[in-house]
Amino acid sequence: MEIIRSVDWMKQIAREAALAQRIVGFVPTMGALHEGHFSLVREAKRQCSPVVVSIFVNPTQFAPGEDLEKYPRNFEGDCALLESLGVDYVFAPEAAEIYPRDFRTVVRVDGLSDKLEGRIRPGHFQGVCTIVLKLFEIVRPRFAYFGRKDAQQARIIRQMSRDLNLDAEIAVCPIVRETDGLAMSSRNAYLKAAQRAAATVLYRSLDAARSKLNSGIRAAAEILETVRLTINSEPLAKLDYAELVDASSFEPLDFVRAPALLLIAARIGTTRLIDNLSIEKASGAHQDFSVSL
Ligand code: AMP
Repeated sequence: MEIIRSVDWMKQIAREAALAQRIVGFVPTMGALHEGHFSLVREAKRQCSPVVVSIFVNPTQFAPGEDLEKYPRNFEGDCALLESLGVDYVFAPEAAEIYPRDFRTVVRVDGLSDKLEGRIRPGHFQGVCTIVLKLFEIVRPRFAYFGRKDAQQARIIRQMSRDLNLDAEIAVCPIVRETDGLAMSSRNAYLKAAQRAAATVLYRSLDAARSKLNSGIRAAAEILETVRLTINSEPLAKLDYAELVDASSFEPLDFVRAPALLLIAARIGTTRLIDNLSIEKASGAHQDFSVSL
């Protein structure tokens, strides 16, 4: 496995891979890697060679006052694990090379970026899209892998990829959870023991919503009320939002209709966590949809 710091060198490797007609798979990350990230890497390994993983804590997707400085970093440990998974290249550029002083361009996906996470974190998705487009231009992937954990991000990147005729095909992989249901996240490292126990309330609230859905309830208000009641029953948790939206437009739904997403964000102390439940069209005739957590 080769660790690459320089943009030019990464571009050179991408050019050579293209000349050799190799299928480049790409997993962009901010490091502090966990099983969620590794699931993307394994999927990339199944379909592509070479596989490139980027580790870059992207400053432009953090608002002032967010956790950029204290974001967990574990570069050596991350690299050792990526090597054991058979990753070919780790691309870990310096922020100063990615964003030189005179950097001026931004990429914004209108509409989708202003809702939910974008409403609470203004400019976040603009930072995400700009770095992802830059990384795509440097790495030139045929397939790029994202987690459904960040469902709005995945939707927005797919839109950008389509709107800008990018070559990368966007693969969205399932959410990997701890055994008690908590969605894996680098930010879980911030949680103290009592907060870690409280954090399962996100999963528990989605699980309660799943039970409602499976019992035939279709009114969004009733399902969202279940989510709110569950989150509010946990004294350490504060709900930012719970919304049931169309999976394509991200517009709120009054009644469940697949494909849809139930998206939640909550604070446990100062740590913001997000999670979601996906409602997909069922293939069988017995049910109108299936629910994935
Ligand atoms: P991050 O390092 O947080 O920017 O995440 C990098 C990629 O890993 C993103 O595409 C995330 O959606 C994905 N990811 C993070 N956590 C999980 C998880 N628990 N399950 C699946 N994918 C995840």
